[in-house]
Amino acid sequence: MTATHAATPTAGSDGAQRRLAMVSGGSRGIGRAVAVHLAEQGYDIAFCGRSASAAADETADLVRAQGAAVFHEPCDVTDHEAVETFVKRAEGELGPVYGLVNSAGIVKDNHLVMMPVADWTSVIDTNLTGTFNFCRTVGFGMLKRRAGAIVNISSVSGVYGHATQANYAASKGGVNSLSRTLAKELARQGIRVNVVAPGFIDTDMTDGLSDKARKEALAAVPLRRFGTAEEVADLTGFLLSDKASYITGQVLQVDGGVAL
Ligand code: NAP
Repeated sequence: MTATHAATPTAGSDGAQRRLAMVSGGSRGIGRAVAVHLAEQGYDIAFCGRSASAAADETADLVRAQGAAVFHEPCDVTDHEAVETFVKRAEGELGPVYGLVNSAGIVKDNHLVMMPVADWTSVIDTNLTGTFNFCRTVGFGMLKRRAGAIVNISSVSGVYGHATQANYAASKGGVNSLSRTLAKELARQGIRVNVVAPGFIDTDMTDGLSDKARKEALAAVPLRRFGTAEEVADLTGFLLSDKASYITGQVLQVDGGVAL
């Protein structure tokens, strides 16, 4: 049984209907911060995680606390049919998607020559194919409505590479290329596509780093700290908003200067 929490689309303080933003990987970490930030900015929110969880329910409560309507249920981003069903159900509850943020992602680090084939495949399937699945499904409706904006969450690994992250870096480099291409394909319809590429951000994903790896990472960051999910959400919200109306096809880093 899936955990669904829906509410009808709400009207903003000016009486206008709120736009719907959809966030993959919204149950935790960066995706959660994005969902809450966008709710604060006046969007209703549809989000998914891989599984039903207390964390997902908590995100939904945080979104509702901003006065937004919320729809959430588990959806495995690697499964195209499941993504189509999720989008259909969310739009049935809350109306057409205006903003899409692809944040669902996993890491399975290892040196390439030691990397289990299954770890290569699952990271590519989740990070790259998952982004394709949502962009394809939601992008189709945006195209018909000639309205919308997409932000895909990539990584500095996908720009510069990172030892032990061949699968992850390849998936995120793929997200960057997919996004630039989609930006070109959708620009004529006024739909913008951009990428936010974070460096080291404090979430469950980086919680697993050993003390040694964390120390080395910090030494590589000129600002000498990990970023917060909220700092990533701020840029994501800006890129989705009309304030970024002349920005498309860009890969923007939120990384404390790690790439300097
Ligand atoms: P996180 O805290 O581990 O959260 C991952 C999210 O992705 C969860 O909501 C998880 O759902 C969801 N997810 C994973 N596999 C999924 C699947 N197959 N289908 C649907 N949802 C799935 O990670 P994060 O740090 O917030 O990362 C978010 C994004 O930022 C990722 O794309 C990551 O690569 C990128 N990023 C993170 C960092 C960093 O330092 N944290 C740096 C650069 C880029 P469940 O809760 O159900 O598991």
